[in-house]
Amino acid sequence: MTKEKPMNELPLMGTQEGIVLFHPNIPKNAATAVSEVLSTRWIGQGPKVDEFERKFEERFTAPCKCLAVGSGTDALHLSYLLADLQPDDEVIAPVFTCTATNIPFLYMGVKIVFADVDQNLNIDVKHVEKLITEKTKAIVCVHYGGLPCDMDELWELGRKYNIAIIEDAAHAVGAKYKGEYIGSQSDFTMFSFQAIKHITTGDGGMLVVKNPELVEKAKRLRWFGIDRSKKQNGIWENDITEIGYKYQMTDISASIGIAALDEFDEHLAHRQNLYKIYCELLKDIEGIRVIGSEYTDREHAAWLLTAEVDNRERLMKHLRNHNIESAQVHYRNDRYSIFGGRVVGQFPKMDAIEERYIVLPLHAKVTVEDVYYIAHVLKKGW
Ligand SMILES: *Cc1c(COP(=O)(O)O)cnc(C)c1O
Repeated sequence: MTKEKPMNELPLMGTQEGIVLFHPNIPKNAATAVSEVLSTRWIGQGPKVDEFERKFEERFTAPCKCLAVGSGTDALHLSYLLADLQPDDEVIAPVFTCTATNIPFLYMGVKIVFADVDQNLNIDVKHVEKLITEKTKAIVCVHYGGLPCDMDELWELGRKYNIAIIEDAAHAVGAKYKGEYIGSQSDFTMFSFQAIKHITTGDGGMLVVKNPELVEKAKRLRWFGIDRSKKQNGIWENDITEIGYKYQMTDISASIGIAALDEFDEHLAHRQNLYKIYCELLKDIEGIRVIGSEYTDREHAAWLLTAEVDNRERLMKHLRNHNIESAQVHYRNDRYSIFGGRVVGQFPKMDAIEERYIVLPLHAKVTVEDVYYIAHVLKKGW
C-alpha cells in the first residue's frame, strides 16, 4: 500500500500516465477540412458557417433556427437580449451550473434569482414555481451532464406565466426528451463547442431560436448591429440602430464543426456506452450513486459521469493514487462574490449534495477497459 500524500503534492498526470478527466474530441477529418478553408477567400464568417448551421439544424433543432457564434456564452448573451430582458427584470436560473450561464445577466443588470437543484443536479422545478414573481421574464435551465431537465413542467410554467424558457444545452447535444432532440422546442437553446464539449470547434457555440421573426435581429446582434447581407451589396443602405456585438463563428471553426457532425453518431454512442457501463459496474458498490441514470422518458447525452459519493476527498485521493483524475468541475454559483456570495439555507438540496458530487473520466479517449479499471479501483474501497 502506498502511503497517502496530500493531493496537492501528487504529480499531475499527462495523457500517457493515467486516465485524464477531459480530452478534446478531434474529428479525423478536421485538419483536412481546416486546411481546405485556409486556401479559400473565406476564413471568417462565410459559406462554411452557413453549411454548419444548416446541417446542425437539420440534425437536431428544426423547426427552430440555428445561428453559429463564437462561444456558448455569446449564444446565451444573445438569447437573453432577444428575450428582451431589461435591467431589474428577474430571471430564474440554476444555482448549480457553469458560471457562463449566469455571467451574461450581470452584463445586462438583470436580477438573478437562483433555484435549488433536484436529486440529479438539474434545476428543481417545484422550487422554480415558488420563485416566480411579476418581474420574472425568463427561466434558464441547464441539462446538467447531459440529462434533460423536466421540460414539460418548465414549458407549462412558461405558458402559464408568459415567461421565456431558455435552455443551456452546453452538455446536451444529442440528448432527447420524450423522443425529441433537445434544442427543437424552447424559445431559445444554446449549445457550446468549447474545447471539451461533445463537439468542439476550438471555441464556438450555437444559438437556436424558435420565433422566426427574431432570426434577422439575432443575425444583426451577432455582427455589430449591421445587416451583413445588405452590406455585401456594396452600397450604403445600412444604418445601425441597435448595438450589436462581434459574436460570429468563423469558417475555420465551422469546418471543424461540420467534420464533427459527420462523426457525431459514433462519438455519442461511445459516450453513452461508457455511461451505461459505469452505471452497471458502480451499481453495487457501497457509497456511490451515479447521477441521472433513473429516467426512461429522456436520453442522457453522457457528457459527464457525475456520482454522489461518501467521503469525496478520500475518494479523490484514492483515485489519484491510481492515476485517475476526478474533479467537481462546476461549483454552486452563489459561492462567487460576483453573484452576491453564498446564501446558507436557501438551497437545502444543494447544501446536502455540495460535499458529495464528483465527476469521473468519460470522453473520446476513455476506453471500456478504463471504465472497468476505474470500477475495480472503486470497488477496493476508499
Ligand atoms: C461550457 C458551458 C458553457 C459555456 O460555453 P462556452 O462555449 O465555453 O462559452 C455554458 N454553460 C455550461 C453549462 C457549460 O458547460
